[in-house]
Amino acid sequence: MKCSCGREAIYYRRYEGRFYCENCLSKQIEKTFKQTIGKYHLLDKKDHVIVAVSGGKDSGSLLYLMSKVFGEVRTIKISALIIDEGIKNYRTVGIKKAKELCTDLNIPLHIASFKEEFGKTMDKITKKTDNPCTFCGVFKRYLLNKKTRELGGTKLAVGHNLNDEAESIMMNLIRGDLTRFERLGPKPGLIRNEKFIPRIKPLIKVPEKELMLFAMVNKIPFFKSRCPYSYNNVRRDVMNIINELEEKYPSTKKQIVGFYNSIMKKMKIETGGKLKFCKLCGEPTTQEICKACEFKNLISKF
Ligand SMILES: [Zn+2]
Ligand SMILES: [Zn+2]
Repeated sequence: MKCSCGREAIYYRRYEGRFYCENCLSKQIEKTFKQTIGKYHLLDKKDHVIVAVSGGKDSGSLLYLMSKVFGEVRTIKISALIIDEGIKNYRTVGIKKAKELCTDLNIPLHIASFKEEFGKTMDKITKKTDNPCTFCGVFKRYLLNKKTRELGGTKLAVGHNLNDEAESIMMNLIRGDLTRFERLGPKPGLIRNEKFIPRIKPLIKVPEKELMLFAMVNKIPFFKSRCPYSYNNVRRDVMNIINELEEKYPSTKKQIVGFYNSIMKKMKIETGGKLKFCKLCGEPTTQEICKACEFKNLISKF
């Protein structure tokens, strides 16, 4: 099959009924990335964007695009940050790949580790709990925000793709978690607190499969592996169901995310009260003591 430009196609976009060659697909993804940033005002002229990288294809593609599109803009600064959860043969490989990419792009890479911040690695924590993802998620969000702020970052860019977003929307729906539901979207803007750095998701409209091709076509160093501890979680089940639906009804994911954005635009949701500061660490939280400090205390007894 041929792309509309005449070259050999490598991809068929089902929801569009169109074939793409590697060049046109790459260009299309770059265009979507730029449109998302423009439409949702994800960037300001003087931003210092910290890109959260993992060594995977999504965050690698995000850093690559940020550098390609904004690398020459003098007022915008780009740095990368990787969280080392302490998972051998997984994050160790990710860090290696992230270093390769950052060297290629000439972007500074910062590393923040669970061991240093919370005293234990995920390899240790996992041995003592049945739900390691809960600890990991809380610690990661906490550390990303804290380090981004310490590095002088004004935005934290994450590589969430269309699949991730559709899954998150459905997960919060299933759990009936309105607080988390409200915090999705390309630029969750509900939390206003000087210590909380806004998160942006410039790849939220790009399907995972396309990002995989994008990373391969553009020779972005990345590793393909799933976290060894993420077996049997809700996200995995939701992912399978959505993929099944997408197979039957192409553009399911796009519809879920589009529908979410329309609802959020219509419902002028209240900001849910002000954030306080944790009495132990001073980081922003809705409680007296933040979840990270609560968990840190828990794992100290492990
Ligand atoms: Zn083409
Ligand atoms: Zn705290």
